[in-house]
Amino acid sequence: MDLRWHQKLGVKIAGICLIFFALLAFSLHWNYDNVRRQMIESNERDAQKLAHSVKASILTFVLGAPEGGALIKDLVVKLNENLKGVAVHITHSRSLDLQYGVDPLELAEHANETLSLADGNERFWEDDENWRFAMPIKSVAGCGKCHLAPDGSGQPVPDGYTLGVISFSASMKPMNIRLTQLRADLARNLGIMSVLFVFMALFMNIQVARPLRLLLAAVQSVARGNMETRVNIGQADEIGRLGDNFNTLAEQMEQSFNRLKTWNIDLAEEVERQTQSIREIRDRHKAIIDSTQRIILTTDNEMKIESVNAEFDVYAARSNMPIRSADLVGRSLFAFLAADEKTGLQNLCAPILAGSKEPCRMELDVELGGGERSFILTLSPLASLSGDVAGLVFVLLDVTDKKLAERALEIERNKLNAIMEGMDAAVTIIGRDGKMTYMNNRMEGLFGKDKMGAVCWETVAGLKERCEGCDAAFLTGRASIEVKALNGSTYLATHAAITDIDGSRSLVVVLEDITYLKEMEEKLRKLSITDKLTGLYNKRHFTERLADEMGRALRQSIPLSMLFADIDKFKSYNDTYGHVAGDIVLARLGRIIAESIRVHVDTAYRYGGEEFIVILPGAGRDEAMAVAERIRTVFAAQVFRPAVNGVEVEIVKTISVGLATMEDGEEMDAFIERADAMMYSAKKAGGNMALFS
Ligand code: GH3
Ligand code: MG
Ligand code: MG
Repeated sequence: MDLRWHQKLGVKIAGICLIFFALLAFSLHWNYDNVRRQMIESNERDAQKLAHSVKASILTFVLGAPEGGALIKDLVVKLNENLKGVAVHITHSRSLDLQYGVDPLELAEHANETLSLADGNERFWEDDENWRFAMPIKSVAGCGKCHLAPDGSGQPVPDGYTLGVISFSASMKPMNIRLTQLRADLARNLGIMSVLFVFMALFMNIQVARPLRLLLAAVQSVARGNMETRVNIGQADEIGRLGDNFNTLAEQMEQSFNRLKTWNIDLAEEVERQTQSIREIRDRHKAIIDSTQRIILTTDNEMKIESVNAEFDVYAARSNMPIRSADLVGRSLFAFLAADEKTGLQNLCAPILAGSKEPCRMELDVELGGGERSFILTLSPLASLSGDVAGLVFVLLDVTDKKLAERALEIERNKLNAIMEGMDAAVTIIGRDGKMTYMNNRMEGLFGKDKMGAVCWETVAGLKERCEGCDAAFLTGRASIEVKALNGSTYLATHAAITDIDGSRSLVVVLEDITYLKEMEEKLRKLSITDKLTGLYNKRHFTERLADEMGRALRQSIPLSMLFADIDKFKSYNDTYGHVAGDIVLARLGRIIAESIRVHVDTAYRYGGEEFIVILPGAGRDEAMAVAERIRTVFAAQVFRPAVNGVEVEIVKTISVGLATMEDGEEMDAFIERADAMMYSAKKAGGNMALFS
């Protein structure tokens, strides 16, 4: 049977206790017997001593006296009276019984007494609760004087005959009581010892074995990996402290273990992440390497081809090359090159193979199936983990199409430049900040070569703010505005947004000189609103201006007056002197009116055939009347010299003038009507006068 260590400990303790207990019991038992024997021997010795002293007394004192025998009886009586715990009994021999008759008090009480009477030997024995000693009294010389032989012969008793036996009987009770007490003491002590042993065993079990067992179980549990295991000894002694120390240790171990576990998990996760990341990077690299439009191949240091990307096969198929990547891998690159190419490649590779980390580039023109192709070869070292050059990476980029495109682009650029530089219009390109990044010849000629980099709207028009053309073009892509330039010219500035290679937006600004057009336009505009004969504005323009002036007068709460003039009896003048002569009169009146009014404030119009109107902003009744009078008098003072049938005559013409000042809420037609009506009144009143409404 396999016992646990603490069970073994219990068995050992129990065994030791048992052995100890047995030894103790044996010792006590031996001691008890010893004491008992010693007590009995002591009693025996005491009895013998007593018996011998009694015997000596009898021999010395009793038998010396003539009635000695009788004294023995007294002695026995005295002894019984004085010896406490000891009973003395005398037994007669047959001789004395014959001599003195049988005394029932002196008969033998025990067979040993009879034996001692018979053989004359002393005897010691235990009987019930007493010990007894039988001491024969033998006849000595002189006893025969009184005592007769037992055979009834009447002869004196022979010497040495046993006359009687004095037996001493001492109770064993006190001794037995003492022995019983001793046994009880021993038993009690044994019991106490047993209890002590039991307590000791219990103590050992509770205070030592149990906590040690708990500790051991906890240690084993921790050893099995249950780091959260704690032990509760519940004792304040060293074992309890051992338990506390164990708990502290276990806690620290648990923390360390947990940290380690976390680190382990973190580490495992990190490793997994890194592995995954490396896998992804590798796959991505492979995908990139395969999908790039570059031919990529790697070799070892001896130029043995190790890998070729998928683009090689694509390119080879497209170029009708009979070779495929599988034909290359494992073979030396030199096997595909001519002798001079081999030397060239060796020279190119030499610095890298010697440890240079710098990639090399070279341009190659190779004759392929479809004609000559241009390549850029980039050669880089393939580093091993230790940093040494483990091989070479060849990257071949077919730049034939790019070169062609660049050439085409160059041609287009040259064309564009030629157009730009040959253009009559000024062209500039500006960024969002308005700074000019390009100026064509015309632009430089107009605004100065040194203005490159200057702000367009400042340079061209002297503006502090960005022009509206820029704003609109950056928003909508295109805008045209007219710009009055600092040099006095007017330009049509066409802004077109373009996107640069870097994604930024710029504007191409084309400035076309439209100064002449603008002047022509102004002339036309003036012509369209001017009366040719008089140089005054025509009726169409009058309608527009009157509406504006009425609105302005209302807004600004200023007076607005109108002067309506009509030449008196003009029809007959025409009829008499001709239409040409009439035109001279009309022209003169026009000039007089123009000279009589405020420049840029008052405006004069030829309203009808020989009817004129002047709009007088800010003029009230008096001011208007003053103007009317000035015109009327100056005109009346004019002398016209028309000819009739070749004879020149002097003629004076007059005008009738009606005046009106705009009233609140008055309509345009009503306003004109009032002035016209006053003119009519003046005419009716005889003409050559001015009347105010
Ligand atoms: P009244 O005093 O009432 O104003 O008489 P009037 O003759 O001036 O009146 P009416 O309006 O009948 O005559 C206007 C004339 O003006 C008619 C026409 O011969 C003349 N007339 C109109 N336009 C022109 C023009 O452009 N040139 C010339 N020479 N005469 C014109
Ligand atoms: Mg008229
Ligand atoms: Mg008239």
